Amino acid sequence: MHAVLEHGQYINGPEVGELEAQLATRVGRGAVVGCGSGTDALVMALLALDVGPGDAVLVPAFTFAATAGAVSLLGATPVFVDVDDRSFSVTPERAAAAARWAIGRKLTVKAAFTVDLYGQPADSEGIGAALAQYGITVVADAAQSFGASRNGSPVGSLAPMTAISFFPSKPLGCYGDGGAIVSLDPGLDGLLRSIREHGKGAHRYEHVRLGMNGRLDSIQAAVLLQKLTIFDDELARRDAVAGRYADGLGDVVRCPVLDDGCTSAWAQYTIRVDHRDAVARALECDGVPTAVHYPVPLHLQRAFARFPVAGDGAPVAERLTREVLSVPMHPYLAEEAQNRIIAAVRKAVV
Ligand SMILES: *Cc1c(COP(=O)(O)O)cnc(C)c1O
Repeated sequence: MHAVLEHGQYINGPEVGELEAQLATRVGRGAVVGCGSGTDALVMALLALDVGPGDAVLVPAFTFAATAGAVSLLGATPVFVDVDDRSFSVTPERAAAAARWAIGRKLTVKAAFTVDLYGQPADSEGIGAALAQYGITVVADAAQSFGASRNGSPVGSLAPMTAISFFPSKPLGCYGDGGAIVSLDPGLDGLLRSIREHGKGAHRYEHVRLGMNGRLDSIQAAVLLQKLTIFDDELARRDAVAGRYADGLGDVVRCPVLDDGCTSAWAQYTIRVDHRDAVARALECDGVPTAVHYPVPLHLQRAFARFPVAGDGAPVAERLTREVLSVPMHPYLAEEAQNRIIAAVRKAVV
């Protein structure tokens, strides 16, 4: 951060390019474009696909509001898709059924968001294969999952475009807002760079398309470059914390179960319990903070209630919003503190 203050290139400083290069090396494929937030990454990816009024985008019913907000900000229609009860994500079968449903209702489905909820990668490759026949491009919302992998392939390499967030509470967090897009298509990163700078053409004040200010600050890139040096260690520590929760709680609550071949970045450790609100209150009394990600499915939020839900609604998403409870998860959660949390949960659910 001092180095940034010295050179004074607060915007588009060398740290941004260095971070983009290091992230691309980590992913092993494609190019990385830093941007201002995970939300910017979602909007920029849709702009790159020319999504706008008259277009539809498949969105899981169970995710953070930003995933659907990006679609409706551009005047397009989110079509909500129910999620799988085990992975909390949309599956290839559900995505294909939703695409057929939307196309049958004369909607022009241009893209589909997959969401790697709580840190486990969705089957974005399988969903991409299932949707290819309809000409639908998958964009992975990996705001919670950077660092995880599926069948040995790291997040970032599983979809044509992947949106990452560096919000402080995400597995790789900076000291403010930040984000990035990984694009596998060779032509796409140039387009994303133009979109990031108000649709810039060959010269500074030539604007060839609609764009925005979607830049990542040099100071945040400097923070991320340092945090990257300990990121693998932090991922391993999160995984150890998750393992201890599974051992300590697996017989009394529904613990997360990873798909075969998946690792998780464990953005959250989210258990499922009956009488969730009572359990949360009991834990609060015992000094254990919890959070609900998320208490209302998107199709029932006032901001999105006018948009369609594919097929027979989203009963799984609705049930999950009543059952999920995230317990403390971070790389430096001491075993002793975790034992106290486990004991408190066991007491609260009896
Ligand atoms: C955090 C998050 C976002 C938004 O990221 P910001 O950096 O806060 O804009 C989008 N989608 C999901 C699933 C998230 O968890």
